[in-house]
Amino acid sequence: MNKINPFESAMTQLTKAATVIEKTTASKAAKKSLQQKMEILRQPKRTVNVTLPVRMDDGTQKIFQGFRVQYNDARGPYKGGIRYHHNVTPDEVKALSFWMVMKCAVADIPFGGGKGGVIVDPKSLSVDELERLTRAYGRALADIVGPDKDVPAPDVNTNGLIMGWLLDEFIKVQRQKAKSFGKKLSKSDEQRFRGTYNGKFIKDGGSEGREEATGLGGLFVLEAILAKLKLKRKLTVAVQGFGNVGYNVAKFLDETGFKVVAVSDSKGGIYVPDGINPALTLACKKKNGFLAGCYCSGSVCDLRKGKQVTNEALLELPVDILVPAALENALTKENASRVKAKVVLEMANGPTTPEADAILYKKGIPVIPDILSNSGGVTVSAFEWEQNLKGEHWTKKYVNAKLKAKMVSAAGAVWNASVKYKIDLRTAAFVVALGRILAAMQ
Ligand code: GLU
Repeated sequence: MNKINPFESAMTQLTKAATVIEKTTASKAAKKSLQQKMEILRQPKRTVNVTLPVRMDDGTQKIFQGFRVQYNDARGPYKGGIRYHHNVTPDEVKALSFWMVMKCAVADIPFGGGKGGVIVDPKSLSVDELERLTRAYGRALADIVGPDKDVPAPDVNTNGLIMGWLLDEFIKVQRQKAKSFGKKLSKSDEQRFRGTYNGKFIKDGGSEGREEATGLGGLFVLEAILAKLKLKRKLTVAVQGFGNVGYNVAKFLDETGFKVVAVSDSKGGIYVPDGINPALTLACKKKNGFLAGCYCSGSVCDLRKGKQVTNEALLELPVDILVPAALENALTKENASRVKAKVVLEMANGPTTPEADAILYKKGIPVIPDILSNSGGVTVSAFEWEQNLKGEHWTKKYVNAKLKAKMVSAAGAVWNASVKYKIDLRTAAFVVALGRILAAMQ
């Protein structure tokens, strides 16, 4: 169905930003150096393919395919989530790892970028099967990850439970390695190694605020950009996606005075003109297994209060803010001209193709790009990593205040670049990121 190659889209975005930078590069030598670095940035430094044999509950064996792409580490260890999805492809993971390089640079955290993926529909596995698959993947990654090498975290369909299993396998391998040299891991090593995976449960060394950080970061970025656009609150919102990110961004927007009128998951969406109560809607969805009929507004769910909408129709609703928070390629050249929102806040990675970007730009609809708007998650991952390295545990208030400062500063830098060079916000975010990455590549 979806033939658009996300890595090609990513490279188109890179080229566009490189052109802006080239115009400001004066000397021949500097131009040559820029070209050479761009060549490096057009491919990942390392791609690891893993084969994961897993014993299924019925005694049979199934082989799963996994990947880890380590794209660039000029600014620090590789960093990025692990995705479990039946449609994972090598080029998708490559694109996602590239976007992580850019994202960490925009957020100005000391990391490069990477991404992992396993081709699996996790809903088709039992919890025991999911654990065996995850542990096999964790063992396969054990040599290439670590707090100073590559620091994974959750992404689509992965969470704290999965991070805990991965970390457990990593630490087991480190203990075995130490043992083979007749040594024991020191307490401080065990502590530091916790920083290898982020998005862990608090009991495993996770950070306060990490689970909702992507959604909260999205709110901070949106508020910063709306202030620049001089758009007031009381705006209506449609959110595509109701996973961790979609749910949390809907929740924070609702709490802050926005009116969330539509949400959806992979099975379809709902439209509730009075405004959705995200927490009640989630509880209803958990009970029923689907969103249809969960027309929850205020403190009640009422079948008369809403209607079903398809994922496609949700994107074209007459709302002020459209939030694609599901997967890549939601907005394409097929539907971008029908978008009615005043602003797009990208909470998924890569939801808008370059063709759709051009259409939306022409229509005067600002697209707040993924590498800025969803960078709250990786930012609190960086805080988690720092806490693990220092053996500290910060309060939620402190974490959220630090997150806000980072998001406001990133949004400001991107806005200023867009004004300075008269470019769209995505290209501006790339220009900001590239400036920092190129400097680190010296
Ligand atoms: N998967 C998230 C992202 O795409 C978080 C990555 C991380 O925390 O390393 O930004």
